[in-house]
Amino acid sequence: MLPYNSVQDAEISLGRNLTYGETLWFQYSAQKSDYILYCHNTLFLFIFYTLFPIPFVLVELLRSPKIDKFKIQPKLKNSFSDMMQCYKKVMFTFVYAVGPLQLLSYPIIEWVGIRTSLPLPSGAEMFWQILVYFLIEDYANYWLHRVMHSKWGYENIHKVHHEYTAPIGFAAPYAHWAEIIILGFASFLGPLLVPCHMFTFWLWFIIRQLEAIETHCGYEFPWSPSKIIPFYGGAVHHDYHHYVGGKSQSNFASVFTYCDYIYGTDKGYRYQKDVFEKMKNQNEMKFE
Ligand SMILES: [Zn+2]
Ligand SMILES: [Zn+2]
Repeated sequence: MLPYNSVQDAEISLGRNLTYGETLWFQYSAQKSDYILYCHNTLFLFIFYTLFPIPFVLVELLRSPKIDKFKIQPKLKNSFSDMMQCYKKVMFTFVYAVGPLQLLSYPIIEWVGIRTSLPLPSGAEMFWQILVYFLIEDYANYWLHRVMHSKWGYENIHKVHHEYTAPIGFAAPYAHWAEIIILGFASFLGPLLVPCHMFTFWLWFIIRQLEAIETHCGYEFPWSPSKIIPFYGGAVHHDYHHYVGGKSQSNFASVFTYCDYIYGTDKGYRYQKDVFEKMKNQNEMKFE
């Protein structure tokens, strides 16, 4: 809830006119409690998780030799009911683990000072904060993921996520509830260490979720905007981790490639990448 009764009050307090974005923010959030604004994050996670994988579902249903050129593991095909099963299972986990985790974590968000007030952060502030969150999350996720590949961690928690040896978009958050909480902590860590505006907080979780879905989509499209991001792992990098399965000691990082490079956990991948490329080229030749 904003501490102003009107746009004029807000402008007097800031000593300037509100931007168009700030006026919209004022109109939308002035009468809503901070808790309700925080709960929007859960709603956005649900909406984006449902909508963003749909194009990948359509691509999978329309499989043809032309599409197979972009499929990382072209021998595998998922039916509509396979993909809906995955969606339903994730939604079940969403209702009893992700949602409650989000809603109950509000006191921590309040304590660290995620603000809802004006002014809104600038584009540059949001960019740098989200970049820092990605770096923090990637590093924390790398080590937590490695721990989950210990014998106990894998058998009791992480093997659920590895049921997909060739992942699909809907399988990005397909995991044991304990993994959702453990890796969810890595996503919260950035905003806990570098508090931001609620709008940035929403945006961070949305972008992170879109990135996870793209990473699990099973396709490598050369025109993907993520291709321009330096050290970005993407779908091929993570697909290999699923392809190798439970014994995988390679490609633990969630977003970038440098942790695996620095800690030497990408050697098998780099060798296999050449093999994959040769397989893909052979497939292309077969279909031409
Ligand atoms: Zn794993
Ligand atoms: Zn995965």
